[in-house]
Amino acid sequence: MTTTTDLVSYEDALASYDPVMGLEVHVELGTKTKMFCGCSTELGAEPNSQTCPTCLGLPGALPVVNATGVESAIKIGLALNCEIAEWCRFARKNYFYPDMPKNFQTSQYDEPIAFGGYLDVQLEDGETFRVEIERAHMEEDTGKSTHVGGATGRIHGASHSLLDYNRAGIPLIEIVTKPIVGAGERAPEVAKAYVRELREVIRALGVSEARMEMGQMRCDVNLSLMPKGAEKFGTRSETKNVNSLRSVERAARFEIMRHAAVLGDGGTIIQETRHFHEDTGSTTSGRVKEEAEDYRYFPEPDLVPVAPSREWVEEIRAALPELPLVRRTRLLAEWGITATDMQAILNAGALDPIVTTIEAGADAASARKWWMGELARSANESGVSLDELAITPQQVARVTELVSSGDLNDKLARQVIEGVLAGEGTPDEVVDKRGLKVVSDDSALGTAVDEAIAGNPGVADKIRGGKVAAAGALVGAVMKATRGQADAARVKELILQKLGVSEG
Ligand code: ADP
Ligand code: MG
Ligand code: ZN
Repeated sequence: MTTTTDLVSYEDALASYDPVMGLEVHVELGTKTKMFCGCSTELGAEPNSQTCPTCLGLPGALPVVNATGVESAIKIGLALNCEIAEWCRFARKNYFYPDMPKNFQTSQYDEPIAFGGYLDVQLEDGETFRVEIERAHMEEDTGKSTHVGGATGRIHGASHSLLDYNRAGIPLIEIVTKPIVGAGERAPEVAKAYVRELREVIRALGVSEARMEMGQMRCDVNLSLMPKGAEKFGTRSETKNVNSLRSVERAARFEIMRHAAVLGDGGTIIQETRHFHEDTGSTTSGRVKEEAEDYRYFPEPDLVPVAPSREWVEEIRAALPELPLVRRTRLLAEWGITATDMQAILNAGALDPIVTTIEAGADAASARKWWMGELARSANESGVSLDELAITPQQVARVTELVSSGDLNDKLARQVIEGVLAGEGTPDEVVDKRGLKVVSDDSALGTAVDEAIAGNPGVADKIRGGKVAAAGALVGAVMKATRGQADAARVKELILQKLGVSEG
């Protein structure tokens, strides 16, 4: 790229144009084997060690459909409120690329397994936006090219390329939205919220971990502008393989500003693919878009059609888990929290840990408090996610139990959690090893109370004179002297008792 891209400010762009978006999301399924052969899908293996004549496209090799792959596709279709085809076929999408040894991708074309659905997504302010789903279809992933010798890692300037076909043939589901209209200035937010909700659905279904940073889920962002009030869509650009929620939002935003600049200058948008650049938040031109006919699609002759029986589809429907939006709405009511609280919990990845902690016996408020406070902070500091912390929800529940029984106060509980995170053992072991029990035994507390009174005669006089609130300072002194281990409520009682004052 030689020229810098002209942009119009976001506000100006939205003042003149309505954005139209289309999102195509690829999800790599978590099946044990590939879509059309028995090769393992396990990540991290020696390059090309998980290949066979079928996924390498050798002459005479015959594909067989992975039944779990089909079942996963049906689950996704049902969760997205789609109709499930009674009969559909695979198709060959023909094109040449070195990472695709067969020279065609086995995909679905005009007969997708699922079609005509919708997904309701929640925006930051708690409002719901319905995204219509065009179709969800089954296909396979390509291999992976690594370009060596150049400065950028791209093919230009590279001296040679390495090919790993372990990924070739891993099942993918591609989910395509209908054109999303009417989102206006919130289009980028809708895009991000849609991909996030879809990711939550996929995870809830257990069909993929959908980790975008690992390429298990990637999004193509189609975007066009039309003059405000127009009905005919403009020409779209397609920003490929955007691989984080934040990037989806940024890519949509950037394209709105770029299209507006081109159109405002009397220029025309060409239908092309574009690449998003994380570092600059901008997109650059890729290749001019092929038309469907360029792919010479035709029905795959080596595979029988897929005709899921209605009984099977209904069995799958009946076994679907509670879907994320329904679950969030239920928990929000049960816990009595706001949509903003819930959003913060989701952003922190704390929903599942909190729910599991409650299931292990903690009350909802304490579970939320620890995961969103101490533990979120700790995860943040060490740059890991909550589920990677060295503490289990069961252990957090045990800590909350020790607090509610009065064995620990919050300060001690924090030290217990710190100990567990540092690998010192279970909460009970840390309590024992560090000697972290609340001291409520009067004889043990008596001396510290006497010393606090003797050391603060002015405060003691105020209390004797009836200023019970001043007792806080003496309680603080005792807590300090006992390194936070005293039972604060009992300390206060002892102070008042010794000074001959009654609380109320
Ligand atoms: P392709 O494979 O050529 O990208 P698809 O139909 O698979 O075509 O996907 C196109 C995506 O872009 C769909 O989500 C569709 O709703 C959306 N789309 C179609 N036309 C437009 C347009 N003019 N502006 C924005 N999005 C569009
Ligand atoms: Mg596309
Ligand atoms: Zn294989």
